Amino acid sequence: MNLKSIEIHGFKSFANKTKLKFNNRFSLIVGPNGSGKSNIADAIRWVLGETSLKNIRGENLSDVIFSGSDLSKAMNFAKVSIIFSNEDRKLPIELDEVEVTRKVYRDGESKYLINNKNVRLKDIRELFLDTGVGKEGYSIISQGKIDEILSSKPNERRKIIDEASGIAKFKYQKEESLKK
Ligand code: ATP
Ligand code: MG
Repeated sequence: MNLKSIEIHGFKSFANKTKLKFNNRFSLIVGPNGSGKSNIADAIRWVLGETSLKNIRGENLSDVIFSGSDLSKAMNFAKVSIIFSNEDRKLPIELDEVEVTRKVYRDGESKYLINNKNVRLKDIRELFLDTGVGKEGYSIISQGKIDEILSSKPNERRKIIDEASGIAKFKYQKEESLKK
């Protein structure tokens, strides 16, 4: 399973629909200060279901929507789609590619899609559980995170080890079944 591409439209500084393709090995994103590099990382977190505005460097829900510039007017939605290759079936879907989309409008209407089908945020979370990808995964390491792990409390560090070792999924399923 690996990241194939991401398409960003109306998200933060990306007024024009922008598609980035990644190869199997590694990719680097370079650019001057303020050109939108971190906004790409934010877009990846956001499409994978990030609900903490702080983690995507925003204060209000609408902060993810392009707010206008000298050249273009503000947009009324932000949309991000991400495609993973799934030949190895790491994601429990019988398809070679899995596309996840999140879209939000200024009036607050919001939706998530998996392969163009409307789903709940919960479905996105469950899809990526224990894959290392996703909101609770540690595939995106932001500035200061390493420091935070080293200085975290034992129970917080335990959560990180649970996710890395693949038992977070079972803990999640237990919590879900206890709710019923
Ligand atoms: P650095 O090298 O300094 O880390 P960067 O390439 O990571 O820079 P970003 O933080 O990704 O830059 O982008 C910041 C830019 O995105 C700012 O110019 C900011 O105005 C713009 N931006 C953020 N949110 C929006 C929005 N909703 N609408 C329009 N522009 C936005
Ligand atoms: Mg940056």
